[in-house]
Amino acid sequence: MLIQGLLVTSLVLSGAPAAGAKARVDCAKVTCLALTFDDGPGPRTGALLDVLKRERVHATFFLMGKHVEQLPKVVRRTMAEGHAIGNHTYSHPSLPTLLDQEIIDEIRLTQDAIQEVTGRRPRMFRPPYGNTDDRVLRLAGSQDLSQVLWTGTTLDWKLRDPARIKAAVLRLAKPNGVILMHDTVPQTVQAMPEILKELKKRGYHLVTVPTLLGGRTPDAGVSFP
Ligand SMILES: [Zn+2]
Repeated sequence: MLIQGLLVTSLVLSGAPAAGAKARVDCAKVTCLALTFDDGPGPRTGALLDVLKRERVHATFFLMGKHVEQLPKVVRRTMAEGHAIGNHTYSHPSLPTLLDQEIIDEIRLTQDAIQEVTGRRPRMFRPPYGNTDDRVLRLAGSQDLSQVLWTGTTLDWKLRDPARIKAAVLRLAKPNGVILMHDTVPQTVQAMPEILKELKKRGYHLVTVPTLLGGRTPDAGVSFP
């Protein structure tokens, strides 16, 4: 009874839709923010999914193909729980240094790995390190992918401290922003309950990148934001 009461109270405070996953957030009407997690799936992704589920928050995961092959169950769960999935290459190279065919292979192997596991080919792609150029964007477009960068990067991999990661997210948060984090950094996962609590308190609806864009993915070959 007490737990139920607390749950209802926290939902009212957070402004989360009571109807659950099916309720659609309209980012033209409310303040939205997209949390994005790169480099997974990893050993801490399941714990992160637990937190997101508990808080009824959806995020976007940019996955590495070779990690998808190692942890297919986690990828299936990520999709089943309503999160958006994007391509973050197979082995995380700096793409502008590669030949055209090497870039296409990095992208395509990952598309294949994700499709094999989820039945769907991602429409979004994020270049490792944010290293990109017109050629990378064009080649991603040729694979039917848009490019999704970010408005704020937490540098969580360098901070490695929950309090500092939380502070970075709160500093970077802005309406319609896209925040870059890594579910491979344990301290990011550790900080997440507090981060979500504070962002909700500040009025943010935490959504996937497609929801941020009104329920669609950016067009292939286009870079966002
Ligand atoms: Zn990365």
